[in-house]
Amino acid sequence: YYNEDTVIYYNGNFVKAAEATTGLYGQSLHYGYAIFEGIKSYKTAEGTKVFKAKEHYDRLRRSAELMHMPFNYTTDELVSLTYQVLERNGFSDAYIRPLVFCSPNMGLSKAKESYLTIQAWEWTNGYLANKMRIMTSSFERPNPKAFLVEAKVSGHYVNSILACQEAKDKGYDEALVLDANGNVAESSGANVFFEKEGTLYTPAKGSILPGITRATVLDMCKELNIPVEEKFFTPEEMRGADAAFFCGTAAEVVALESLDDVQFTKNWDDSLCALIQKGYRNLVQGKTLDEFKKSKNALEL
Ligand code: PMP
Repeated sequence: YYNEDTVIYYNGNFVKAAEATTGLYGQSLHYGYAIFEGIKSYKTAEGTKVFKAKEHYDRLRRSAELMHMPFNYTTDELVSLTYQVLERNGFSDAYIRPLVFCSPNMGLSKAKESYLTIQAWEWTNGYLANKMRIMTSSFERPNPKAFLVEAKVSGHYVNSILACQEAKDKGYDEALVLDANGNVAESSGANVFFEKEGTLYTPAKGSILPGITRATVLDMCKELNIPVEEKFFTPEEMRGADAAFFCGTAAEVVALESLDDVQFTKNWDDSLCALIQKGYRNLVQGKTLDEFKKSKNALEL
């Protein structure tokens, strides 16, 4: 993730990642009481662009508010610091990881002070060509009555690690994690959509992290006139559907091959999901969806 030249932003300064230090006595390390974002930048015709930068930093600030963490940066300041980190490292296609953690305090009351780091590393292999085989997890998503699931909190990711590792141990690529009512929620680190008879479906909010990629896909559906519904559904409804994908900043839009060994039935390239995948690639590269409006018509013929 870093080498001896890598520069990060750390609480007011640009410093070498290899030289940055933090203490061992704190709520973030001990209790997972920290918040973060996962953001990507891309090389575009107009130079390096951080995709949906404002949306990510608005969510980081909202996470801080929900978690009672003092955090005084504006979204504009955070965006500007991010471009400076990219520039200082000479990165274009990169993954950006802002993390807000707390000052030394071993108690269970709210943070009195917070620290911000913005780390970044090069990430060029965005578009995943492989399809994923996924399984329904035996783990549930964090209960929304026990956690504020709309905040992107470090501690929530212990659940993600358990679900992801269980799937890998059983020979799958990823987990599909349900909510406490047995409805599909999301994967360990991405939202999910499936396609059936010309409509896309995605879990309604409640037990998911409402992803910025998910919102982008919903916007794309509107622009491309693809019917889409946010609703609660069980894995039985999703199994054997026409097509499906996971979507998130890191994963982008990644095709799913099967759920619990039941294949999705449509040829991927003929699916609306494939159109969304290609369209998303265009958006991150700063292009429009115009060419896909034509292919949507072609699919209908
Ligand atoms: N759900 C979870 C649990 C995630 O970790 C992520 C990745 N941040 C997502 C969904 C997708 O969110 P986004 O599109 O904002 O990256």
